[in-house]
Amino acid sequence: MELKTDLLSLSRTELREWVEKTEKKFRADQLYRWLWSHGVRSFDEMTNLPESFRTRLHQEAELKTITLTQLQQATDRTVKFLYSLRSGLQIETVLIPDFQDDGTINRLTVCVSSQVGCAMACSFCATGQMGFLENLTAGEIFDQVWKANEHAEEHFGSRISNIVFMGMGEPMLNYDAVLGSIEKLTAKDGMCLASRRITVSTVGLAGKIKELAHEPIPVNLAVSLHAPFDEKRSSIMPVNRKAKTDLDALMDSIVYYTRTTGRQVMYEYCMFQGFNDTVADAAELSKLVAKAPSKVNLIMYNPVDGLGFSQSSEKSLNSFIARLVEDRVRVTVRRSRGQDIDAACGQLAVKHQIGK
Ligand code: SF4
Repeated sequence: MELKTDLLSLSRTELREWVEKTEKKFRADQLYRWLWSHGVRSFDEMTNLPESFRTRLHQEAELKTITLTQLQQATDRTVKFLYSLRSGLQIETVLIPDFQDDGTINRLTVCVSSQVGCAMACSFCATGQMGFLENLTAGEIFDQVWKANEHAEEHFGSRISNIVFMGMGEPMLNYDAVLGSIEKLTAKDGMCLASRRITVSTVGLAGKIKELAHEPIPVNLAVSLHAPFDEKRSSIMPVNRKAKTDLDALMDSIVYYTRTTGRQVMYEYCMFQGFNDTVADAAELSKLVAKAPSKVNLIMYNPVDGLGFSQSSEKSLNSFIARLVEDRVRVTVRRSRGQDIDAACGQLAVKHQIGK
């Protein structure tokens, strides 16, 4: 039996070619809108397509979507969704509301996964302990955003405002699917979200950062730095042990990216007690980030059992910030959200995948 084509993993051009084998060009546009603007995942609901075309869709195509298996809501109203893929593996998505003082919504951010597990093996990360299992398709990434948006509209009375690729996986290692999902999320006949509200976060794959600089859709770039010295960074992030992705290569790619795009970069820096949170670390970090227009986001780490890292104290955090501010570094602090649920990246899915 011939395998069915998963239409949700096709690019716009591929979808058009597939449709035009039997139909006129405008049918591809109609189908695109059903899939990406209306989020329809059943051919029977595509009522303006002729019967003969729908029969072909049933016979030759499929829509590999994701299925909700668990939902957790924290007291701060952060929501974590656990989804099953058609492969049977699990991923997680997080919806993070940010409220104004009067209780109205300021921002609604969706944190999406791009892979099941991750090959990067960062030693402080729950997902990194799973190893790499599978790449998500563009459709599986898009559907996390679509479903989070449905939840947001129903429970928060508001549409999502921001998307961050900071869930499970290294987005740059599933580059085509990530870019494919962004195309559908931002297309006028797709979900029509603003590209400047989308952030792709990477562990620092220098070659891919340079490639991203030339993409036509202008998204934001975040880079997980976590240590300003090669030796320290290599000890927690194996990616740094290779010459083509060590700090020198990474900074070179960031300078290239900011010059090419005219956009700044956001550095993510997890504060680990007694490891990377001294004033000397802050001083070295200042020097590094001065190389290109940037901001530093200090993250208060959500400890993961058994990994041996703990969150920096407020005292260390304040001294660290003071040193950065002295050097005119633009700095923000991200407090952990959803601490009463399995909050750290990958924790919930790891539990389900390996039955911890
Ligand atoms: S921190 Fe990101 S890149 Fe590192 S192992 Fe975890 S998911 Fe992968």
